[in-house]
Amino acid sequence: MAHLKDAHLKDTRSFKSRLSFDQSHIFHPYTTLGQTQPNVLITHADGVYLYTAEGRKLIDAMSSWWSVIHGYNHPILNQALEHQISRVSHVMFGGLTHEPAINLCELLVAISPAPLEKIFLCDSGSVAVEVALKMALQYWIARKQPEKRKFLTFRGGYFGDTLHAMSLADPINGMHNHFKLALPQQVFVEKPRPGFSTPISTSTINSLDQTISQHHHELAGIIVEPIVQGAGGMNFYSPTYLTTLRNLCDRHDLLLIFDEIATGFGRTGQLFATQHAADISPDIMTIGKALTGGYLTLAATLTTTKVSEMLHREPLSVFMHGPTFMANPLACSVALASTQLLLQSNFRESIQNIEQQLETDLTQISDHPHVKDVRTLGGIGVIETTHPIRIAKAQAFAVEQGVWLRPYRNLLYTMPPYIVDRFQLKMVLSVMKQLLEQDIFLDA
Ligand SMILES: *Cc1c(COP(=O)(O)O)cnc(C)c1O
Repeated sequence: MAHLKDAHLKDTRSFKSRLSFDQSHIFHPYTTLGQTQPNVLITHADGVYLYTAEGRKLIDAMSSWWSVIHGYNHPILNQALEHQISRVSHVMFGGLTHEPAINLCELLVAISPAPLEKIFLCDSGSVAVEVALKMALQYWIARKQPEKRKFLTFRGGYFGDTLHAMSLADPINGMHNHFKLALPQQVFVEKPRPGFSTPISTSTINSLDQTISQHHHELAGIIVEPIVQGAGGMNFYSPTYLTTLRNLCDRHDLLLIFDEIATGFGRTGQLFATQHAADISPDIMTIGKALTGGYLTLAATLTTTKVSEMLHREPLSVFMHGPTFMANPLACSVALASTQLLLQSNFRESIQNIEQQLETDLTQISDHPHVKDVRTLGGIGVIETTHPIRIAKAQAFAVEQGVWLRPYRNLLYTMPPYIVDRFQLKMVLSVMKQLLEQDIFLDA
């Protein structure tokens, strides 16, 4: 026993020293070195659970930022990787190809809204957005109108952290405000009215039309996150906006880009959020996050034959992009397994059940004094609070209760893995509700 206790003490000491190195040397998302709360050290994960070095078991209510839809340590996904790792883990994609990429792309083309049928594989969501924007720019270069180089987007959006993607984030609340002078200038329009069931108004259609006419000479296209504005504010909006944008792009000869990186692979209840709007599709679409079931980093940009043909024209003749780790075979094989698993599962029903439980539960607290709004769409549940949340404090409380949450600004939200059961989700919701009673609000 004494021996075990010693071992535990040593373990504790060593994980504390590991954490202090982490805290002083390793950047984490959106933090400063040395000044933040220590991160939670994860030793392993299984199903919906993360296991911490301190011996806690946490339900991952965030699906590791939208990605881990089937849960951790999934036997089928593990097997796909094990199978591939003994064949080839990586090979350059310039001049070489492999079955994992071919099989994956064949499936992605088959399930994507027609007529998206050409695909570019890349490393991360932000890069997929860069590729999408570059495709649009190169399309206009080939059409001898290189001055068409700006993009129109809604305020309140988020498209990633690379520079061009950042230029499209909300100009006020988005983090790019301070980088303004270094970024390309884009054209912003009002964010959509909140509510999946709140249709676009005639006056909005007219003003969109007007803004497009006014900037037409310099616009390459329109880029939006369909139905859900994610990291920019968890705003849900009506599919009628997408139909309107499609019509306007057709009328004004602009390219329409949908960023499905957060919404793709079932999260909103449809395989792609685009499919909430009947019979429309974008000219370019980006996917990422849940593409590999959260196992490895992989993203893709899909486009139509009409666009891809332009990319082969003079003066560039080839599409100017080619990441070192393009189409990594491990990432492709696990993406294929994850997507097949999703299609074989009854994900629409799982999402519907999650949605129903989120809705029933969150509606009960809609008139809580700290609650400004609650909203649910598919596997996403959001509590918008009246005051900004002290994130570290809220997170520490949730961890003590056995749930991993990552609120930001005044948004307390969950998008659990699709395999979450009723009791696990109940626990997540209970912790979210308990948080409202804690001293976690700034200026409250
Ligand atoms: C997360 C996200 C991105 C960026 O993806 P990364 O893989 O983090 O680079 C882009 N667009 C949307 C809508 C996202 O949610």
